[in-house]
Amino acid sequence: MLICLICKSSYLDLYMGGQFGKYQCKNCGYVGNLVLDKYKKTKKK
Ligand SMILES: [Zn+2]
Repeated sequence: MLICLICKSSYLDLYMGGQFGKYQCKNCGYVGNLVLDKYKKTKKK
């Protein structure tokens, strides 16, 4: 589950079909590669 950093919405879609590795939030319009992933949250470097 990916979560928008801006509005915390899970209504994200791949931007341009994902060819740029970016996501677009359908809720607030945010586009970027920085999104929260609930399932990888526990991994730390
Ligand atoms: Zn958003």
